[in-house]
Amino acid sequence: MKSLHTSHIEISKSALEHNLQFLKNYIGNGVQISSVVKGNAYGHGLEVFVPLAENCGINHFSVFSADEALRVHNASTKNSTVMIMGLINNEQLEWAIENNIEFYVFEPDRLEKALETAKRLGKTAKIHIEVETGMNRTGFAMDQLPVVLKLLKNNSDYLFFKGLCTHFAGAESIANYYRIHKQQQVFQKVLKKVAAAGLTPEQKHTACSAAALRYPKFQMDMVRLGIIQYGFFPNKEILIEYLTKKKVTQNPLKRLISWKSHVMDVKKVKTGEFVGYGTSYLANSDLKIAIIPVGYAHGFSRNLSNQGIVLINGQRVSVVGTVNMNMITVDVTQVNSVEKGDEVVLIGKQGDLEISVSSFSEFSEQVNYELLTRLPENLPRLIVD
Ligand SMILES: *Cc1c(COP(=O)(O)O)cnc(C)c1O
Repeated sequence: MKSLHTSHIEISKSALEHNLQFLKNYIGNGVQISSVVKGNAYGHGLEVFVPLAENCGINHFSVFSADEALRVHNASTKNSTVMIMGLINNEQLEWAIENNIEFYVFEPDRLEKALETAKRLGKTAKIHIEVETGMNRTGFAMDQLPVVLKLLKNNSDYLFFKGLCTHFAGAESIANYYRIHKQQQVFQKVLKKVAAAGLTPEQKHTACSAAALRYPKFQMDMVRLGIIQYGFFPNKEILIEYLTKKKVTQNPLKRLISWKSHVMDVKKVKTGEFVGYGTSYLANSDLKIAIIPVGYAHGFSRNLSNQGIVLINGQRVSVVGTVNMNMITVDVTQVNSVEKGDEVVLIGKQGDLEISVSSFSEFSEQVNYELLTRLPENLPRLIVD
C-alpha cells in the first residue's frame, strides 16, 4: 500500500452486504432501517461508508449533529434522508430546512425557532419530536406535551410531524430491564396522548441495535441501527441471547473493519535490558523486537502497554513496554524471519488468526463503541472486497 500514513484501515464491502442482508431478514417487514453513522460512522469513515450502505439499499442515515449531517448530505449518491438526533444550532436550522434535513426537537426553543425559520423560508421543517421516557437526557417531558402538540396542530403547513421518538437507557443490559420496561410504558402513554390530540406522526421509533434485537415489538416503524451494521453485537449479553434464542453457535455478523500497518524496524535486546521508556518492560531473556509505527496518537490506546496483541506473519505477538505516541514495540522472538515492511494487523485477520476489536478492548477496558470512534479520522480508509 503506497500511503503517506503509517497505518491504514480497510473496510469490507462484502461484510457490510452480509450484515445488512442479515438485518433486513431479521427486522420486521415494513420497518425502515436508519443507518447510524455518527462518530465518523463508528470510526469506519463516514464518506466511505455512506455510499457503500446506499449501494446495499440503505436510504436513511442518522447522525448526532449538523456537521455530520452535512457530511452525509455531501457523501450521499442517492439523495438519502438524513436525520439529526442531537445538536443543531438555531443558526443551522435554515440550512437544514432548505435541504430537507430532518432533526430531533426536544425543547421549546428549538421548536419555536424551527417554526419561525420554516415560515420565513416558506418551507416545511420535518421534525422528530423526542420525548423523555426515563433516560433523563434530551426529550420533552409529559407535562410539556400539550403545548407542543397544540403548536404542531396549528402549524402543520410549516412543521411536518415526521417522527415521534425516544431512546432507551441501556437496552443491551438485562440489569436495566425494569427501567427500559418503564420507558416503554411511558412511550405508549405518550402515543395515546398524541392520538388523543388528533395527531399522527409518520414514524414512531425507539430502537437502537440492542433494543431492535431484544424488544422486537419496539422496532415500530423504524430502527436506528449503529454498532450492529458494522458487525458487532452491542455487548456479549446480546450476542449470547441471540445465539440462545436462535439455537445457533455462530455469530451471524461479519466485521467490516481491519487496521493494518507495517514493521518499521527489527532489533535484538539482551537479557537484563529494559525496552522503551523507563522500566516498564525488562527483558528476562534475549529478545527480538519489532517496532511498529502506530501509537496512542493513532488510536492505539496507551492502556495496551505491555498488554496489547498484534498479528505478524500469521502469529500473535505481544506489545512490550509502553505504547508511545507514535510507536509500539512487540516481542517477535518466536516469529521466524520478521523483516522491515512486513504486514502488521492491529485489528482484523491474518492467516487463521483474528484480533477483534472486542478482544482488544477487553485489555484496554474500552468498549467497541469507544475504540472504534477513536480511530483517527485522517487514517486512510480503503474499500476492499
Ligand atoms: C447512537 C444511537 C443509536 C444507535 O445505537 P447502537 O447501539 O449503535 O445501535 C440509536 N439511537 C440514538 C438516539 C443514538 O444516539
